[in-house]
Amino acid sequence: MKWYRFRQNNSEGRHKEPAHDVFIEAPNDCYANAIAIYYELYFDGCHNGIDCKCCGDRWFKASPRDAYDWEVIKNHIAWNRPNLKDDNNLPLVAFAALGKELVFSVQDVEKNAQS
Ligand SMILES: [Zn+2]
Repeated sequence: MKWYRFRQNNSEGRHKEPAHDVFIEAPNDCYANAIAIYYELYFDGCHNGIDCKCCGDRWFKASPRDAYDWEVIKNHIAWNRPNLKDDNNLPLVAFAALGKELVFSVQDVEKNAQS
């Protein structure tokens, strides 16, 4: 199982929930994109009149190149940002493990994996 990274573009100069970067565990990118909808991510925001056309879409669908092993996320991408929030109190990272609640730190993902 891989983790798919969704990086948020701050359309209109601001980020939105659930976090700047959202990581979703899934068997492939198609599943990850479907699961993302449950966590308030959306795609084609400009086309649908939700996002600013000059800033571009807020979220983009994941592709196979957005797939990471958990160890890489834990040790290289998110390790230095546990539980951190931006100036507007918005989490920098969020994680959706398969069948689990959304959590906001590497430690919580690993805690959930044991339960
Ligand atoms: Zn704009």
